[in-house]
Parts: sequence; C-alpha cells; structure tokens
Amino acid sequence: MSTVCAVSTPLAEGGLAVIRISGENALSAAARVFTPFGGKKVADMEGYTCAYGRVTDPESGETVDDAMLTVFRAPRSYTGEDTAEISCHGGVYIARRILRLLLANGCEQADRGEFTKRAFLNGKLSLTQAEAVMDMISARGELTLRSARLTREGRLFSRIDSIKQSLVTLLGELAAWVDYPEEDLPAVEHTALCGTLSAACTELEKLVRSYDSGMVLRRGIDTVIAGKPNVGKSTLMNMLLGYERSIVTDTAGTTRDVIEETARLGELELRLSDTAGIRQTDDKVEQLGVSLAKKRLDECALIIAVFDTSEPLDDEDRELLSYVRSLDKRLLIVLNKTDLGAAEEEPDLEGLPSVRISARSGEGISELEKAVASMFTADTADPDLMIFANERQKHCAELALERLREALGAAMSGETLDAVTVLTDYAVSQLMELTGENVSEAVVEEVFSKFCVGK
Ligand code: GDP
Repeated sequence: MSTVCAVSTPLAEGGLAVIRISGENALSAAARVFTPFGGKKVADMEGYTCAYGRVTDPESGETVDDAMLTVFRAPRSYTGEDTAEISCHGGVYIARRILRLLLANGCEQADRGEFTKRAFLNGKLSLTQAEAVMDMISARGELTLRSARLTREGRLFSRIDSIKQSLVTLLGELAAWVDYPEEDLPAVEHTALCGTLSAACTELEKLVRSYDSGMVLRRGIDTVIAGKPNVGKSTLMNMLLGYERSIVTDTAGTTRDVIEETARLGELELRLSDTAGIRQTDDKVEQLGVSLAKKRLDECALIIAVFDTSEPLDDEDRELLSYVRSLDKRLLIVLNKTDLGAAEEEPDLEGLPSVRISARSGEGISELEKAVASMFTADTADPDLMIFANERQKHCAELALERLREALGAAMSGETLDAVTVLTDYAVSQLMELTGENVSEAVVEEVFSKFCVGK
C-alpha cells in the first residue's frame, strides 16, 4: 500500500498543526524533510518516541520550521502501519508547505478518512468502531460523546456480535438436524428456537430505537415557538438564545418571518423558530407568515405554545391551542408574563404539561428547560446507551430485525425449518455487514468518504 500524508489539524491559524504520514515509507519520507537536532537519525527512532528538530526542503536546503517528530512503528500505530507525525507551528502556509515537501518526497495525498480506513483494513478497528471515531469528533454533548466512546471501545460490536453468535449457534443446530435426519440428533426444541429468535429481536429493537434518541441528541430538536402576537414569543426566544435576535416591539404581529436559531438546553439543542401567530388575517404579508408558521408546526418535533397569563385566553388563543393539540406533537404550554400577575380566570389546559414563566425577567426558564428535557431524555438515561452512528448501521439492523421477525413468525406457526433457516441466515449476513465483517468494498468506500481528510 502507498505511503500517504495529510494535514490532520484544521487548516487555520493555531498553536500547532500536525501532518500525519502513514505507510511503508513513512519514516524514510519523514527523514528526508526532518532532521533531529543533536545528530540522531529518524531511522533509529523507536516507536512511541519523539524528537525535536528542523524541517528543511531537501532540494534547496532551506529551513521551513522547527518541529517535533513522533514515530509509531507498525503494527503499534493507529493505522497499523509505520506512522510519523510532524507537529509544526500552526500556520496554514507552514502546514501546506511541509505537506508539499512530503508529496515531493515519496508520499501521496491521503483521501478522506484514509488513516481510519487503513486502521479498519489492517484489523485495528471494526467498521462500527471506525464510524464511532467520526462520531466522537462530531459529538456536541456528554451523552453523544459517551455513546460514541463506548462504540469506539468496541461495545456496539460486542453487542451485535453476541446477537450474531446466538443466531449462528442456532443455524448450526438447524443445519445439523435438517441435513442429517437419520443421525439421532436431538430435534431443535421449539421453545428454545422461538426463545433465541425473540431475544435477538428484542435486543435489535432496543438498538434501533436508540437511533431516534441519538438523532435528538445529535441534530437537536426542531422546535417552534407558537402563539398569538405579543404574548412574548420573541422575548422567550431571545431569553433562550441569550441575546437579542428578533425585533421585540409592542405592535401586535411584528414577527412575520420565521427565524431559526439554535439554543443549548443542557444535553439538548433546540433548533428554534419563532413564528408568527396563526390568526386569521387580511394582511397579505401576514397571511404568508401564517401559512409558513403552519408548515413549520407540521414539520417540527416540539411545539412551545405561548400564552399571556396576565390576560384571560381569547378566541385566538383557543384556536391556537386546539390547532396545536390536533397535531400529535410533543407540546409544552408556556404561560408567560407571570410578573404582571395572573388573569382572574385560570386557563383550562386539560392536563397538558405547562410551565409559568416571565420571559422578560427569566423567572421559570429553568423549569421550562427541565420540562423539555423530561420530554426528550427519558430514553437516554440508560448509562449503557448505545446509539447507532448512522443510517447505514440502523438500516442493516432493521433489515436483520425484519427477517428475524419473519423467522419467528414462521417458527411459531410451525412452518418448515428451512424457511426459518433461510431468514435467520439473511439476518446474520446483515449483522455482519453492520460490523463490517462481511462488507463490500463499495460500502467501505462510502463510509470513509464521509470522514475528513487527515483522520
Ligand atoms: P411576540 O409578538 O409574541 O414575539 O411578543 P414579543 O416578544 O415581541 O413581546 C411583546 C411585548 O410583551 C414586548 O413589549 C415585550 O417586552 C413584552 N413581554 C414579553 N414577555 C414579557 C414578560 O414576561 N413580562 C412582561 N411584563 N412583558 C413581556
């Protein structure tokens, strides 16, 4: 395999930049451009050691930078190959210049994710572990990081592997019994057969479900703040975002555009849009806002419906309330402007989750955060939460699950064991695709093409 190199740190000014080289000629290429101070030779450096020295252009003899070289010797490196890393001053020009020197001295430019792909091809990582590397990099909160770390440590692989093992054992028994009926083998016991299949289904169902929780953590929750004009939607949004964003005015109906921003609430991220109210109106521009608001309400995952608690609910409030209730979305009622004192008449919320706040003073905001968190993080409380990293993994698990359910159905209805065998066999091959034990080159290419260069 060729020797490749890439700048592994972002191409931006910073304290350090790291250029990574991996492959058979990694150390000789490094030796051509890097000379340790004090006369030591790169070729003599042991694995896991580093040297301080100088990067020079071997052709002109010109010094480029002072740098550190770290050496990893095969197979004890990330990729499993000889690897060298040059840490230089973090300038875009310096990093590119050193990269060019390496390209002129026996290295090729690494593709996206090439280092991790080599680690996978050299058996250092399973495919799920490799994918978790990407997930760790993109983690934006403790829960996603923890899940990615567990997967990176191989826990997802072991879980899938143990499901697979139970099915492989079952297939062995089925095959023996079907192929050698004359041998006096014990028949595959019906209860045990159904038990194994149904346990595998339960375990896979759990993993597939975790994907949705994972999506909430990774991508944030699409949230719409709805309410009639002037109840304090923009003020609430600004409060959640921590700064002034939409124009807050006293004239009803001023927030006509849908504004989108991201607010962090503990582990969760809300993708907020502060929308116009949805009242009937003759104003053309406002009508446009209303239809946009309805569309957003249809597509979102969480609706925060805001009411002004200092006044009794009017028809417009009631219209909104019944509209958002009809949408089958997670819904939080916010009774705003508590600082003005409550209206005489308590609104009837028919048991909907609600919080009282003052968006102006911030009172009640932490209760609001807690209420939202309890709607979304119930599934993520499991300390062993394992989240599929991507659609690919989830899709494989779903296909396996579908076949296993069919196999279970066939077994329960007393169909021939051949059908059970074929379906179970297919499920096993899907699980092996998930872990990368049995995966086509095209899938591998696809997985690593999503990585960044230098990883
Ligand atoms: P929107 O039309 O629903 O976006 O409402 P705004 O956020 O623009 O607020 C309308 C008016 O109500 C502004 O004058 C705000 O300052 C005021 N307002 C918003 N929230 C509160 C609150 O909690 N208490 C009080 N007293 N006034 C508020």
